Order: sequence, then structure tokens, then C-alpha cells
Amino acid sequence: MSKLILCLLVLLSGSAASAATEQTKGSFKDTFRQLDEDLPSANAYRTAGGEPGHAYWQQKVDYDIDVTLDEDTRRLTGSVAIDYTNNSPDTLRFLWLQLDQNRFRSDSLAERSAAFADPSVRGVPAKDMEGNAPPAISLAELRRRQFMDDNELGYEIGTVTDSRGRTLRHKIVGTLMRIDLAEPLRQGRSIGFNLDFAFNIVEEDAVSARSGYEHFPEDARDGGNVIFLIAQWFPRLAAYTDYEGWTNKEFLGRGEFTLEFGDYTVDITVPADHIVSSTGVLKNPEAVLTREQRSRLEQAKNAEQPVFIVTAEEALANEAEGASGTKTWRFEATNVRDFAWASSRKFIWDAQGYRQGGDVQPLVMAMSFYPKEGEPLWSKYSTAAVIHTMRVYSRFSFDYPYPTAQSVNGPVGGMEYPMITFNGPRTDEQDDGTRTYSLAEKRFLVGVVIHEIGHIYFPMTVNSDERQWTWMDEGLNSFLDSMAGLEWDPDIPWKVRPADVVQYMKSEHQVPIMTQSDSVLQLGPNAYAKPTVALTILRETILGRELFDFAFKEYARRWRFKRPTPADFFRTMEEATGVDLDWFWRGWFYTTDHVDLSLDRIWKLRLDTEDPDIDFDRRRQEEAAKPIHPSARANSAEGRRTWVELKPGIRDFYDENDEYTVTNKERNEYKQFLADLEDWERVALERAVQEDSHYYVLEFSNLGGLVMPILLELEFADGSSERYDIPAEIWRRNHRQVKKLLVLDRELGSVIIDPHWETADADVENNHYPRRIVPSRIEVYKRAEREGPEFRDIMQDIKTELEECEPGDTGDGSTPASATEAECVRPQ
Ligand SMILES: [Zn+2]
Repeated sequence: MSKLILCLLVLLSGSAASAATEQTKGSFKDTFRQLDEDLPSANAYRTAGGEPGHAYWQQKVDYDIDVTLDEDTRRLTGSVAIDYTNNSPDTLRFLWLQLDQNRFRSDSLAERSAAFADPSVRGVPAKDMEGNAPPAISLAELRRRQFMDDNELGYEIGTVTDSRGRTLRHKIVGTLMRIDLAEPLRQGRSIGFNLDFAFNIVEEDAVSARSGYEHFPEDARDGGNVIFLIAQWFPRLAAYTDYEGWTNKEFLGRGEFTLEFGDYTVDITVPADHIVSSTGVLKNPEAVLTREQRSRLEQAKNAEQPVFIVTAEEALANEAEGASGTKTWRFEATNVRDFAWASSRKFIWDAQGYRQGGDVQPLVMAMSFYPKEGEPLWSKYSTAAVIHTMRVYSRFSFDYPYPTAQSVNGPVGGMEYPMITFNGPRTDEQDDGTRTYSLAEKRFLVGVVIHEIGHIYFPMTVNSDERQWTWMDEGLNSFLDSMAGLEWDPDIPWKVRPADVVQYMKSEHQVPIMTQSDSVLQLGPNAYAKPTVALTILRETILGRELFDFAFKEYARRWRFKRPTPADFFRTMEEATGVDLDWFWRGWFYTTDHVDLSLDRIWKLRLDTEDPDIDFDRRRQEEAAKPIHPSARANSAEGRRTWVELKPGIRDFYDENDEYTVTNKERNEYKQFLADLEDWERVALERAVQEDSHYYVLEFSNLGGLVMPILLELEFADGSSERYDIPAEIWRRNHRQVKKLLVLDRELGSVIIDPHWETADADVENNHYPRRIVPSRIEVYKRAEREGPEFRDIMQDIKTELEECEPGDTGDGSTPASATEAECVRPQ
């Protein structure tokens, strides 16, 4: 092997050798270790390819419910007949039900285990999580405690009987209830049982739950009006699964719900002037809607824009008048995993048919329900956003599977149920009585409607376990809602870009995405934003849209109306793309590493020709280019002449020649070197000399720990540029440092890693080679005023007269919620 080729090889293999040594002990970390050893073993229910197996099963639970809403006492009373079908191969001797309302009992596990300034409490700043701030308690927390003290909350459960009238023993354990069956329930058999229930509904603004009521004391009607958003309202069967058995993790408020599919018939009795929005299809419109409303609904099916079923004027009249008596609304829903509804006389109602075609559900009624407090925002954007969501999501997954898709305004900021979503945004009343909204409120409305309607796909149809893996519904759904948001209006910067998760991924306060919901710190970045960015990078940067979209759609198809686990998602994405992504799942979902690649150095290599007449001269030039001794340089600057310059007579042969002078001795050696080369070696050398390519070795380091592809923008000395992507697999033997040889036909000027910020790289400055001057701003500021009680002029302040404050008119005689509602009168 010739010396020159050896020279290049030594340089490259040298790093590989030291890397291998380094990884044998201590700092060893195999970022490409296969994930299968950590994933559950494949079995007859779930294949190693991430598909439902040949023996896949899930339970079926059908409900027949009668429920009555008492507006004045804010109370629900109901009875439910449940039909439970055991499709599992196991024999069940008891059933578990979820009693979510028990979470609000003062002795619930959630209440008793709540830590002070718990990071799961909304709005606790990061510094408080570090324990640096002195303890403080908010007015909102005081209000919550007072509401919990003043109200009897949680379920009242009556006798449980089976379909033959026999009383079944039951045991309540926190938010769960076990029902002991009279005889074991074998595979393929069903059991029916009945029970009565009642509970006092929580005030959403006081306790911040996933359902509840909102009181409008200022409305014209005596006692004001109420919007009820009703969910987690009936005893629901806990899921029984092939991967966990009974999913009996307590409801602590954060981790959402793991449920079974089934069919529902629900009779909802409400005040006669209420409008009800509900999961399912209204089965008795002639009993609860006027002829006018029914004909408007018919007209809405083919409308080009939303049609009012209840107009703003009609809603305003409703909320001012009130009516006596009740009406019962009957809804039926097929193959849903939950059931929720909303009721109020304040509702304006609009609807528009969405003809999506296909066999599944050719016509979907998109509908919105909102009070005047949501206008004019809601009539303009809510139903439109519902339809837009179905348009985009169906392209990524499957046809919208249900006959209705509804968006209801109320006190719950954003929450999803089959066919119905609760969304929070409101508008602001101006002095002249008209209403207006900010850009933020518009973004919030369109964004939250897309997000919550999107949940009807994930997890209401692709039924992942929300209690365990929040990212499987929130992450997948946030990724899709960001795609849908960008297709709504890319100029409104409301969607998560890779760069937006950088601070979070660098922070100390995080846990891996694969953390159980109730233990996650900072739910938003962990379960929503980071998975969104991960999937965006997978789609746009690593796999490309064609591969990603095919695999994602396959995941949705496989698990539609079934129950996937994380392993099923990871495996399906690999199976359908044909790409090993274990390193990606491992880095993004199982660690808290972040992305920070650095381009530390670029070497320019020159090919030695071995011809002394070429190489010696090059080496002489290289030597001459080096700086001379600083004293010699200073001497020269002073004009000090050297001895040799002063005494030219002492010059000899070595003053005219140097160590790079070529003699025939070297020329003969070169001839001999060429003669000794094998033919193929000579050919390779001659071609390389002739091509005279530019050899560069780029040294990269991975400072964040997460391995990622290295996306390079090569900028050449001639002003041209070129993209050069290095796959993540370059890190497979050493995840800290790698070198890469680039053989280029042009001279390189500079190089940038990830110029378009696609990879969530935490420090983009070390992506530039050579480094650039970092732009920043000079902020002009004034020294803060001195504060503290001793800086007051108490001598003057003591003369201040007391102002008289009158409570504002809240309509019900209660104290105003905020100080601004109180009128203070200055002494004259
Ligand atoms: Zn969500």
C-alpha cells in the first residue's frame, strides 16, 4: 500500500480506533441499541410488527342511561343499565368501574397526595419548582379550597343489581368501584347490571376540572344563567386489557381516561328552555326542537356556510326569560368510548353539513354551541375550524368516523369526547355593548377547536391509554393539529417549531416522554410540544413525507377502534417505512437528552504527489507562511541589520539553498517509488494527482447527547452552496465525537449545520464554521427605584383620607370577583 493512501487512512481510522477504546468502559452508551429488548414481547394479541394479533380482543360495554339535570341545585341524578361483554379469554369474577367524581372528595387520593406548589398545578413558575421562592398561595387556590369545603362532592351510589334483580356486592376504592359478580363471567358471555347515581356538579372556575358548570350572575334572568359541561358523569367501566388487565390507576386529575367502546342510549332531562349538545345523534327532535329549528337543521345539511339553528337574538330572548318544566332529549351513539354533553339556555347554535364522501360517514354535521359571550368570534370560526380539522386529519388517517362533530363553548378551556368538544375562548365587551377579540383569542379559538376535534381521531377512535401515555394522544394530536394549523394559515405563528422546544429540552425540569401522565413535570412541553417536534422532524427531515405519511396512516388504520400501546406505534412506524428508528425513539422518547451538534474544526488535506519537484516546493511555501521569531520580527521593524547582511562575504552554499532544495538523489528515489508501485496503485495516484480534489475532514461533537442526522450547508469559495446530509447512523460507534471526510471539487469557504433550524439544535452558534459574530441587542435601562416600607414618606402618607368602595352589582348580591368591579369613591 502506498504511503499517500496510508496517510489519509491513518488520519481517519485513528479516530475510529480511539472511539472504540473509549466506548468499552465508563462512558459507554449505545445510542443505537435495539429497542426490542425493552419493548413488551410480541404475542397473539399484538404482533412484533406493531399490529393487532390474530387473537386480538377488547371488551364491549353498552350503556342505557336516564339522567336529570337540576339547574338550581347544580345536581345530576341518574340511573344506568350496563351491558358488559367479556371478549377476553379470561374468566372475570368482578368488574371495576371508574368513579371520577370521587376525585373531588376531600378525602380523595388526589387531594390528600397534592404537594404544595406541585409542578402539576397550573401556573407554578419554574423557579418555584426549584424551591427557590418562598411559599405563596393564590386567590384561585383559596377559592378552590372554599368551594371544596362548602360542597358535598363525589358520587352517591345506590344499590347495584343484576338483570335478574339480585343485589351485587360492591366496594368503592377511591375513584374506582369493584362489583362482585354473582357468578363468574366466561369468555364470550355478557352480564347486565343496574345502578343509581347522583352527584353535585363542580363549579369549573372554582376547581378547574375537566367538566363542570359556569354561572352567569349578570344575566337578565332572575338568578342568572348557567352553562353545564357534563363529562365523567356516570360510572364507566374501567378498561380490561391484554397488556395490563384491569387499568386500575387512580384518577388524580391529570391522567385522562382509558375506556371501552360500546353503544349508548341516553335520555337527558333538562329545563325545557335548554339547548343540549351531546355525543351521538338526537333521536327525538320533534319532542325538543321547534318546527323552525328542525327545518333549519335540514337546510344546514347542504349549506355552504354555517346555518343558525338558534340565532343570537333567540338565545338572548331565552336567557332573559326562562321557562318552567323540563324536556327529555334522547341521544344514541354507536361504537364510542365515552359520552359527554352540554346544556344551557344561553346557547346560540349553528350547523353545517360536511360531505366527506366515502362509505363510512358520507355526511357529518359540524355544529357549534356558544353564548353571546363568544361572539362574534364563534359564529365566524368555530364550525369552520371543525370542518377544516376533519379535512386535514382524514388525509393523515381515516374518514371521520361519526355522524356529528361539535364544538361547545364553556368554562373548560379545552377538552374532548366522542363527537363533542369543550372549548374556552371568549370575547370582550366594549363600552358601547358590542364585543371584540384580540389576535390571541382568535388564535386560541381556531387552535383549540382544531386540537379538540382532532382528539376525536386520537384517542377517541385510535383508543390509546391516556392515563399511562399522555403523549400517545396529546403528542400525536398536537403534531396533527400543527399540520392542520399550518394549512389554515401559515402566517399566524401559533404552531410549534423545532426551535420552540430547545429551552425545555435543555432544562433540568423534565422527564422522558415515556413517563406516566401524573408524574410528568411540565405537561405542555413534555406531552404536547416535544412529541410534536419529534414527529415533525421524523416527517420533514429524517423519513420524508412519503414514507412518514404512509406509515402514520397505516398506524391509524391498524388501530382504528382498537387499543394501541407505545410499542405498537414504534413498531408500525418502522415496519411500514423499512427504516430502523430505534435510535430515534430511544433518544427522543426514553431520555432527556437534547440536540446540540457542534462543528468544531475543519481540516483541509492536501494530497502529497511524492514528486520532489512538486512537494518540496509546497513544503517550502508552507514553512515560509509561518510567522518568524517575534524578536527577529521586531529587529526587522527597528531596521536592525543582521550580521550576514552586514558581512555579505560570509555567505555560502546554504545561503542560496535550503532543506527543500531538490537533488537528483530525491528524483531517483521518486522514480524508484513509482517503479515499486503496483499497477493499480500507480493508476490511483496518477488519477488523484490529476484530479487534484479538495479533501476536507470535518470534526463534529455531540454536546446534547441526542444523536441526530447532521444536515450540512456547504458554502464554497466561489459563492455557490450545496446541501449535504449525513445520516444519524454516523454516531453509531461514538455518540460524542465523529469525523467525516468530504472530497469536493471546489474549495470550501464555510459550513453550517442545520441552517434552517429543523432539528431543535440548542446552540446554533457552534453550528457555524468558522464561528460568526453573534448578533445581540444593547438594552438601555434605568436603575430600579428603591423599594421597601422604609422608603415611603409616611409623614405625608399618614394624612391620606379613606376612600369609600361600593361593591359592583353582581346581580346575586355576592361580592364582586375582582377589585375592578368595585367602585371606589374619593372623599371630596
Ligand atoms: Zn389534547
